[in-house]
Amino acid sequence: MHRSRAPKPPLEAPHVLVSLLATRAAAGRGEQLGDPSSAAAWLAGQGLLPSEPEVTEAERRRLLDLREGLYTLLLAPRRRWTRKAARLFNRTIRGAPLEISVTADRTVRIASPDRTFDGAFGKIVSLVINCYFAGQWKRFKTCANDECGKVFYDDSRSGARKWCGRRCGDKMRARNRRSAVKRGRR
Ligand SMILES: [Zn+2]
Repeated sequence: MHRSRAPKPPLEAPHVLVSLLATRAAAGRGEQLGDPSSAAAWLAGQGLLPSEPEVTEAERRRLLDLREGLYTLLLAPRRRWTRKAARLFNRTIRGAPLEISVTADRTVRIASPDRTFDGAFGKIVSLVINCYFAGQWKRFKTCANDECGKVFYDDSRSGARKWCGRRCGDKMRARNRRSAVKRGRR
């Protein structure tokens, strides 16, 4: 079997997963993985598959199922994280090709070996697992500015960021100030 080089630590993980979640239709943006060629372009863009890969419609649907499961898992309000969603997610990731190994410096690595669609799929699942063990799941957030709704990864020290960036932060703070003034006048 072809042995890939030791995978990178999960630093890359949040960015790939944020990018996947950002392909969902949201405030003012359409579905980004609407056909097999856009799914192929996304996978190649993330370095998960070689450039110009072939992706079938069935594979695209699997990728969307994984993305929806991931969204429910990381971002849906807690009460919606039901047993049914867990079952669906587990069914989607069942059989994903994962390679678990221990390195000489006593690190456990979870990776996916090959450069096929299944390998890329397994790689995304391995990133989800690596993020879990790195305590990163709670840092995936949706911007609190509902006109924006962008998915972001909160890499702040406190882990208390509510907005995707400064622009939304300034906007929301100004809006909150205005409504506080209005309340004061009443
Ligand atoms: Zn935002």
